[in-house]
Amino acid sequence: MSDARSMAPRLPEPKLLIDGESVAPADGGTVPVTNPATGEIFFQAPAAGPADVDKAVHAARRAFESGPWSRMNPSARAKLIRKLADALWERREEFALVASLENGKTFREAIRGDVAPGSATLAYASEWPNKVTGEVLPVDGNFHTYVLREPVGVVAAIVPWNYATCLACWKLGPALATGCAVILKPSELTPLTAMKLGELAREVGFPPGVLNVLPGYGAPTGEALARHAGVDKIAFTGSVRTARRLLHASADTNLKKLTLELGGKSPQVIFPDADLARAVEACFWGIFGNKGEVCNAGSRVLVHGKSHDAFVEKLVARARQMVVGDPLDARTEMGAQVSQHQLETILRYVESGKSEGATLACGGERDREGAKAKGNFFKPTVFTDVQPHMRIAQEEIFGPVLSVMRFDDEAAALRMANGTSYGLAASIWTRDVARAHALARKVQAGVVWINCFNEFDDAAPFGGYKESGWGRDLSAHALENYTQLKTVWTHLPEV
Ligand code: NAD
Repeated sequence: MSDARSMAPRLPEPKLLIDGESVAPADGGTVPVTNPATGEIFFQAPAAGPADVDKAVHAARRAFESGPWSRMNPSARAKLIRKLADALWERREEFALVASLENGKTFREAIRGDVAPGSATLAYASEWPNKVTGEVLPVDGNFHTYVLREPVGVVAAIVPWNYATCLACWKLGPALATGCAVILKPSELTPLTAMKLGELAREVGFPPGVLNVLPGYGAPTGEALARHAGVDKIAFTGSVRTARRLLHASADTNLKKLTLELGGKSPQVIFPDADLARAVEACFWGIFGNKGEVCNAGSRVLVHGKSHDAFVEKLVARARQMVVGDPLDARTEMGAQVSQHQLETILRYVESGKSEGATLACGGERDREGAKAKGNFFKPTVFTDVQPHMRIAQEEIFGPVLSVMRFDDEAAALRMANGTSYGLAASIWTRDVARAHALARKVQAGVVWINCFNEFDDAAPFGGYKESGWGRDLSAHALENYTQLKTVWTHLPEV
């Protein structure tokens, strides 16, 4: 890994990508992009308005219905997606530097947790174009009846800021593999890697209109996409609040299909027979990795009374040693929160934890030491004595704040684990594997990790139960989100 501090960032051209062309927004809109570690605005991204959205949707429709994309052989499509995956991999440091500058995550996390997995997802998706098949049905009567699995059409991929490259690739991979055309709308906070991805797609030879990139704000850019009758599907990752707006927009317009990857309040349940040292390390990274700005962050630890004090002592000691600072410095373990707004949200949650009676074991305030005073740095924070009704036990904070809760029997642990509106992920720590599997069946979550946490693989579906979302990203199951079935009946003559 290079020393990121000595690298010069390669920023994208400040233009929208529509129909293969770099264009300025029709109304000249811009989005300032701030480096969360320094507070400096270092880029003016273009902001797409409704007229740009309309142009991009038409370009995507053309590419999908009559352009070269619609006629391209599946094997050629596969090669193009592979080229994009390989180009992203080759330029991973360049992308990671920009990701770190716009998001505040460490350079190391940007490579390992964002850009490299994004490239891997595209590579995995590149294997699918000539393997997505239909079926022939054994129906009654004299018919030849088959099912075609067809691409859903024009997809608006609306993604958040915490893993801007990776989450874009989670949508792009299966959408492109199945032959859809895409309009990618990155978060207003982190538009740069998406714009660079658009440039890369053009460079490797994607035909015009297949991938359009429209930076901009939730409103009007995202809203205009969500309300456009030419969009067939929204692939969304973000907050529950925005998901509800998208559902309304779909209901009010053309009933476009939706997949929703939303937030979480994921519990890590630790039994007395667990390997405590491993559990502590996993809980530490589970909440402080990527600054806690992780949808599946293990933001609640439910620990058995017998292990509680030892666990807290070890975890707090580790948290106090955590190196918070310059995201580009290889020694840094935690960078800067993405925005001032996010920092204020975290502070409000800390205040609510204190006022509701939880015990602040460490952190709980901004880290303003030295050069950090200018950035959005926050100290790793652990609350103990957290009760299930408290806001810090119920609501997604999306920051480095851990809520530790105590249980004394399994039934209570399960009640607490399932006692929020979310159901994204959970983990169970015990050497009694039968107990772990039994509990895994009762936990309401789309992913359960046993004696591990935060494991991902392109072969493994990811997504939530309850208000954590609809549908799954990754794996063969993701392809279902981007295809629809057509049943064709042919009456056969008697022979
Ligand atoms: P957000 O909902 O505010 O924004 C997400 C995207 O939606 C952004 O591109 C934003 O511009 C756009 N948007 C906002 N309002 C819109 C509107 N009215 N119409 C259309 N688009 C609109 O979320 P965020 O703050 O960027 O991201 C944090 C959230 O994302 C957290 O809740 C987190 O848990 C969730 N998340 C989930 C996953 C997952 O895979 N489940 C992964 C990462 C993040």
